[in-house]
Amino acid sequence: MASVQSFSSCDLSCMRTREPWGKPRRIRGRRCLIRCQSGKISDSEEEKHGKVKLRVLIAGGGIGGLVLALAAKQRGYDVKVFEKDLSAVRGEGMHRGPIQLLSSALAVLEAIDEKVAKQIIEAGCVTGNRTNGIADGLTGEWFTKFDLLTPALKKGLPLTTVIYRMTLQDILVNAVGPNILRNKSKVVDFMQEPNKVRVVLENGQHFDGDILIGADGIWSEVRSKLFGKQEASYSGFTCYSGLTSYVPHYIDTIGYRVFLGFNQYFVASDVGNGKMQWYAFHGEPPSCTGFPEGKKERLLGLFGKWCSEVTTLISETPEQMILQRDIYDRDIINTWGHGRVTLLGDAIHPMQPNLGQGGCMAIEDCYQLILELDKVAKHCFDDGKPCEVVSALRRYEKKRISRVKIVHTASRMASKVVANYKPYIEFKSGPLSNVVVTHPGIHVARAVLQLIFPHFIDWMIGGHGLW
Ligand SMILES: Cc1cc2nc3c(=O)[nH]c(=O)nc-3n(C[C@H](O)[C@H](O)[C@H](O)COP(=O)(O)OP(=O)(O)OC[C@H]3O[C@@H](n4cnc5c(N)ncnc54)[C@H](O)[C@@H]3O)c2cc1C
Repeated sequence: MASVQSFSSCDLSCMRTREPWGKPRRIRGRRCLIRCQSGKISDSEEEKHGKVKLRVLIAGGGIGGLVLALAAKQRGYDVKVFEKDLSAVRGEGMHRGPIQLLSSALAVLEAIDEKVAKQIIEAGCVTGNRTNGIADGLTGEWFTKFDLLTPALKKGLPLTTVIYRMTLQDILVNAVGPNILRNKSKVVDFMQEPNKVRVVLENGQHFDGDILIGADGIWSEVRSKLFGKQEASYSGFTCYSGLTSYVPHYIDTIGYRVFLGFNQYFVASDVGNGKMQWYAFHGEPPSCTGFPEGKKERLLGLFGKWCSEVTTLISETPEQMILQRDIYDRDIINTWGHGRVTLLGDAIHPMQPNLGQGGCMAIEDCYQLILELDKVAKHCFDDGKPCEVVSALRRYEKKRISRVKIVHTASRMASKVVANYKPYIEFKSGPLSNVVVTHPGIHVARAVLQLIFPHFIDWMIGGHGLW
C-alpha cells in the first residue's frame, strides 16, 4: 500500500544552501528534487488504494489558515477552509499594508511548497540585505542596527522580505484553490464527538472532520467556544498606517527603520514598487477616533518635531491613505486546544506588531502542526490503525509554546521600553534652563541592545531549530 510521504527530511535537505540573493541552490540537486516532488500524492492514486484521507477543517482563511491548508493539501489530506470574508485582510481596509516575512518564516514556506514560496519571494521586496534597525525619532541617529543578512546566509535561508498582504493572500488563495477555500462561510460553533468534530456555519451548514484548527484571528470564535469569551488586552497604543509613493534617497541602503520617542514610535519600510509604508504608534486610550483636523494633521502635530525622515513620509502621504486602528494582544495561555480542536496564529497568541512577528509565528505554527499530523497520518494510513490525531495536536502545542512565549514577551517588552523611552533630560529652570542633554541611561541601553540583539535576531532567524 502506498504511504503518505513525510516531507520533513526532504525539506531539510532541500533548504540547506542558497545564493546570496535568496534563491535556493540545490547542492543535493536531483535526489532532493525527486524526493520533494514525489511527496505529492494524486487523488486518483489514493482512490486506487481506497485510502481514507485525514479530514482537516480550518476556521479562518488568513495567513495561518491558508498556509496550513496549502500544507495539508500537499499531503493529500481532505481539507476545508471556512473564511467569513476574504476581503477583510485583518481590517486594513482597501489599503492593506504589507507584511514582513522573516527568513525563518520564508524557509518554512519553502518547506511547505517551494513553488509558492518562490512566487512570494519574487513578488516581495527584499529588505534583509539592507541596513535595518532602531533610531532616535528626534535626531534620526541610529540607536542600533540589525544584521538580518549574515544569519540568513549562514543558515542558507531566504532573505527577509516585505510583501503586500493582498499579494500574499492572492498567491495563497490561488495555490489553495476554490475546492478547499469557502468564502462567506463564518464559523459559529463546533461540536466534538468521539470520532469526529463537526463545524457549524452561520448559514446553518455543517461539516464533519477529524480535526478542527481555529485560525480565525485575534477575535477567534473557536477560541471563545473552547475557553469562554475573554477580553483582549489593549496595548496602550493606537496605530496609524500610511502608504506613500514618495521614494526617499536612502531607499537602496535602508530596508526598515524604527524611530523611537517617548510614548510613540514610527516604523518606515520600503515595500517595493516605489512605495514606502509607515506605521505611527501613539500611546493613547483606545477608540480615540474622529479627528476634525484629519489624521495627517494630527500626526504632524504628534510627530512634527521629529527628524525629516519621519515628517517627510507623513507629509507625502495623502489623507485617504492613512488608516488608524487600536492595537490589542492577549496573554499567552498554556492550553491551546482540547480534544480534536486546536488553535494557531493570532487565534492563540496575538502579539503586538512592533517586532513584525505575528504572521511569521502563524506560519511556523502551521509547519509544526503539519509535521505532527504527518506522523500520525502515516501511522494510520499505512497500518490501518486508529488515527491518533488528538495526541498530534497536543504535541504541536507543546512544541510551539516556548518559542511563541519568548517572542510574545519580547513584543510586550519592546512596547514598554517605548512607553518609557526618555533619551533626553531637559532642564526647565536654573542656569541650564532649556538645555537638553542626552540621558546617561541611553548609552547603557544602546550597549545592552547591541549586545543582545544580534543573538536575538540569530535565534529568531534560526526558526524552531530545524535548520
Ligand atoms: C499594524 C500591523 C502590522 C503587522 N506587521 C506584521 C509584520 O510585518 N510581520 C508579521 O509577521 N506580522 C505582522 N503583523 C501581525 C499579523 O498581521 C498577524 O499576526 C497575522 O495576520 C495573523 O495571521 P492569522 O492567520 O493567525 O490571523 P488573521 O490574519 O487575523 O486571519 C484570521 C482570518 O479568520 C477570519 N475569521 C475570523 N473569524 C472567523 C469565523 N468565525 N469564521 C470564519 N473565518 C473567520 C478572518 O476574516 C481572517 O481572514 C502585523 C499586525 C499589525 C496590526
